[in-house]
Amino acid sequence: MPRVFSGIQPTGDPHIGNYFGAMRNYVRLGEEYGKNSIYCVVDLHAITNPAAYDPKTLAQRTFEMAVANFAAGLDPEKVVFFVQSQVPEHQELSWVFTALTPVGELERMTQYKDKAEQLESIPAGLLMYPVLMAADILLYKADTVPVGEDQTQHIELTRALARKFNHAYGETFPEPKAVYARDALRIPGVDGQGKMSKSKGESSTIGILEPLDSIWQKLRVAPTDPARVRRSDPGDPDKCLIGDYHKLFSDLPTIETVYEGCRTAGIGCVDCKKMLMQGITRELTPLQERAEGLRANPDWVRDALATGARQAREIARPVMEEVREKAGFLKL
Ligand code: SF4
Repeated sequence: MPRVFSGIQPTGDPHIGNYFGAMRNYVRLGEEYGKNSIYCVVDLHAITNPAAYDPKTLAQRTFEMAVANFAAGLDPEKVVFFVQSQVPEHQELSWVFTALTPVGELERMTQYKDKAEQLESIPAGLLMYPVLMAADILLYKADTVPVGEDQTQHIELTRALARKFNHAYGETFPEPKAVYARDALRIPGVDGQGKMSKSKGESSTIGILEPLDSIWQKLRVAPTDPARVRRSDPGDPDKCLIGDYHKLFSDLPTIETVYEGCRTAGIGCVDCKKMLMQGITRELTPLQERAEGLRANPDWVRDALATGARQAREIARPVMEEVREKAGFLKL
């Protein structure tokens, strides 16, 4: 049975790109692979970038990310879901891999270069980020990793480290493969400035836990097909981010109405956005209500995460024992 692993950044309020690209995928894979689907909120990764790390909010954002995933349908009875810092074996394996990784390879990582460029002093942890990610995956001997396209280089390094360890110490780890969520790669930001991304700020994103009023305010002013200067000008929904969002949130008859109406100037952009808002409301209202229920019951959330961490350690401990023995550490 394949084993799936994915790490989730503790960004607090995930946006619809995260939801369609990752979170719904986790739920689906959980139905298929059960306890062989392992997901963790990667708080140890969060501290590697001083530009985005705030110790005052990390715990809250970690908790909120757990709430969001549970609200989106992740069932802790079916999958293993936990917080990375609760399973210390991640750090232990990361150190073993650190000893196998050439610094030059890490310095060539595109994400590292992008982040390092913005910093005056670069913490070593930022450089080591992909090594910790390799440890996250291989600690569970996972072979399937649902990720965004921007993680391709990191998965390649993970594969290289698995090969390197196996070559040096004997066959131990599988070479995991990345599985991409194609829809997620094309979700545009609501400001019309390229892909939806948290790093571009709130104006780019639609949060899945964001109040519906606030979402509407963003949609209201969102750019549309520039060909529709006047209400009577026909447009092309394939050149409009609202058209893209309809494909995610609206049912087929609505999509047909919008496409036809846009191309014939039969509907105005405000009507089109209102129809989209109906779909968003239908999708996000039950999710937001579940999130409210979970926030009102924080002990349930904490217990579920503690159980997940115990289950993760049951898998991680024997793997680390195997690694220690193969790497030649003294056994007492
Ligand atoms: S009618 Fe809808 S899809 Fe067409 S340009 Fe306006 S907002 Fe975009």
